[in-house]
Amino acid sequence: MKVPFFRCELGDEEISEVADTLRSGWLTTGPKVRRFEAAFAESVGARHAVAVASGTAALHLAAEALGLEAGQAVLVPTLTFAATAEVVRYLNAYPVLVDCDPETLNLDLEDAERKLRRAQQGRLCPGIPGPVRIVGIIPVHVGGLMLDMDRVRGFAARWGLWVSEDAAHAFPAAYRANSTAAWRRCGEDSSDVTCFSFYPNKTITTGEGGMAVTARPEIAERMRTMSLHGLSADAWGRYEAVDRWDYRIIAPGFKYNLTDIAGAIGIGQLNRAGAMRLARERVALQYLEKLSGLDEIELPPTNEDRIHSWHLFALRLRLERLAIDRREFIRQLGALGVGTSVHWRPLHLHPYYEQQYAWRRADFPVASAVWERLISLPVFSSMRQEETDHVVGSIEKLCLLHRADRSLAVAAQAAGA
Ligand SMILES: *Cc1c(COP(=O)(O)O)cnc(C)c1O
Repeated sequence: MKVPFFRCELGDEEISEVADTLRSGWLTTGPKVRRFEAAFAESVGARHAVAVASGTAALHLAAEALGLEAGQAVLVPTLTFAATAEVVRYLNAYPVLVDCDPETLNLDLEDAERKLRRAQQGRLCPGIPGPVRIVGIIPVHVGGLMLDMDRVRGFAARWGLWVSEDAAHAFPAAYRANSTAAWRRCGEDSSDVTCFSFYPNKTITTGEGGMAVTARPEIAERMRTMSLHGLSADAWGRYEAVDRWDYRIIAPGFKYNLTDIAGAIGIGQLNRAGAMRLARERVALQYLEKLSGLDEIELPPTNEDRIHSWHLFALRLRLERLAIDRREFIRQLGALGVGTSVHWRPLHLHPYYEQQYAWRRADFPVASAVWERLISLPVFSSMRQEETDHVVGSIEKLCLLHRADRSLAVAAQAAGA
């Protein structure tokens, strides 16, 4: 049996919305994108939503609109995808990498504070010479388990930082500070900007696409303007306007608008987002229950004060209890037909960041160690029961076969495990 790492769930609604768009003759940004933006804003409780071509574009536009300038610096987790930090480089600013929390794998605010103090003293890394002004923070809700945004906001306010959330994994997701506090959805005005991704393997997709949401009208307007060549909003904003030809260029913007074909897919995906999250949660809860007896692995944390999007289910191998390493474990899972991935090799262990900044592994002790143990298992809404069972069975099998304790492994083999 083969279980892919991910399979999109698309249905008749997406297909008929796309067909409707194709028949309409209007393919680029238009009525479907406007509907998608309005429905998305409503679903996360945001005041303004700007649909764009990718999550990366949303992060870039957010940093630009928040005024990030060349030579300034931004706190970015080292345990993240390329996009989170590269957008800082797009603006010729410095990404100041931050270690992760050993439990949640989300950015560690204590290490962020250490890096802020070191930045003031000009002792960050060889690639960031001298004192540098850190002006913002881009936290990532890794796998869809949200950070405590009350803490992040408090931290940011103390240090005078703007907050742009990389919520590529966190739709739909929510948090509350404790069991008596009200739930807040990811995107519900807790940051300056919150950025979502609709890449095919994300929790909802538009093929390629992203969304930036904000409560600040001037930031929304700047992102909208810059998402389409820096054309003044009153010219391009009305696709039905009679005088669309008379636009004004007010800044050298980008080409980051979303097409109506993509928006049409998004409208359908949005309607199934809640059901798809529940389906992923059912898979995750089964993994948590059925894999809990294995001493060779650690399971991801849960928290009753979070609504987890379950974009990822990342287990950690206990390498000291296994006779094989992570690479071999992944290879053997693949041979059993189980697709997996790793989220992620930390940024400071990639050639660009090594060569450009020369961070040391010791600057990120947690991420440097934990990433070598991470394996993300398949978790997607259309997973069939036999697929979940096959993943569980395959993990059990490899743990028994490769126990560091040879006698147990041999016994397991003899018993036909
Ligand atoms: C996928 C992802 C992005 C980028 O989203 P795209 O839509 O692919 O540009 C950014 N950050 C994180 C953490 C991601 O996983």
